[in-house]
Amino acid sequence: MPSHTDKNAAPPLPEPLRVPVADSHTHLDMQSGTVEEGLARAASVGVTTVVQVGCDLKGSRWAAETAAAYEAVHAAVALHPNEAPRIVHGDPDGWSRQGAREPGGDAALDEALAEIDRLAALPQVRGVGETGLDHFRTGPEGKDAQERSFRAHIEIAKRHGKALVIHDREAHADVLRILKEEGAPERTVFHCYSGDAAMAEECARHGYYLSFAGNVTFKNAQNLRDALALAPRELVLVETDAPFLTPAPYRGRPNAPYLIPVTLRAMAEVCGTDEDALATAIAANTARAFGY
Ligand SMILES: [Zn+2]
Ligand SMILES: [Zn+2]
Repeated sequence: MPSHTDKNAAPPLPEPLRVPVADSHTHLDMQSGTVEEGLARAASVGVTTVVQVGCDLKGSRWAAETAAAYEAVHAAVALHPNEAPRIVHGDPDGWSRQGAREPGGDAALDEALAEIDRLAALPQVRGVGETGLDHFRTGPEGKDAQERSFRAHIEIAKRHGKALVIHDREAHADVLRILKEEGAPERTVFHCYSGDAAMAEECARHGYYLSFAGNVTFKNAQNLRDALALAPRELVLVETDAPFLTPAPYRGRPNAPYLIPVTLRAMAEVCGTDEDALATAIAANTARAFGY
C-alpha cells in the first residue's frame, strides 16, 4: 500500500506559488495519469503553463496536438540528440519508445527533419527542441548524425522564428561552438542547464536562457547553484524535465509539473531573493523566451 514513506509514490502537493509560473520543459507523455489531471494538479499550485517537449516524430506530433487542444500547453518539436543516430544507424538497444528499428541512413534522417520542419511552422509550436549534443549516451559512431541533426534544427528554428531548446549532456564546448558556427536563433534556451559558473557567464554574454531543473537541488550540484547565483535574473527559467530529475527531498520519486514550486523555492534561496520576485521574473522570462 502506498504511503508517504513509499519510495515510488508521487510526492505530495507543495504549497502553492503566489505568482504563477511555467514549467519550461516537461514530457507529459512519459508521466502517469491523464493530461487533464497533470495540468489541473500543476495549476492548483500555481504552475499554469507548460512547454511540452517532443523527442522523436511520434512525440513531436503528440506535443503539437496537445498544445492545440490545451490553452495551458505550448509545444516544442525535435528529434532528440540520441534519436538522430538511431534513425540513421538503427536502434540496437531498443531504448527508443518506438522500439528497435532498421537503420535508415541519411535519407531517413532528412525525411524525419522535414516532418519536424513542417511541425515547427504550426502556431502552437513555440520551440524547436530538444536538440543539441549528448556525448554521454551517444558514442563516437553516432556523432556525425547527432551533429548534422543539431545543425538542421538550428536552421529550422531560425527560419520559423521559434525558440531553440538545447539538450547539452557532457558536450558544453561543442554545443557552444556549433551555435557560434551556425549563428544561434534570437531565443536559445539551455534546458536542464548543466554547465558551471564560467559557462553561465558565456551564455549570458550571448543572451542564452538558462533553464534550471530539479538537479539544482541535489547535494552534489554546487556548480549549478554557483551558475544560478551569477546568471542574470532576466535569463533564468525553471523546468521539471519530468518524469526525470525530481527535486530534493523527493529525488528518485516520479516527477511532474506540480513539483515546480519545490525547485523554484530552492532557487530563490540560492539567489538570496524572495520567492515572489523570482517567480515574477521567471514567468516573464519564459513568456519572452517562447514568444507566447
Ligand atoms: Zn534533455
Ligand atoms: Zn527533456
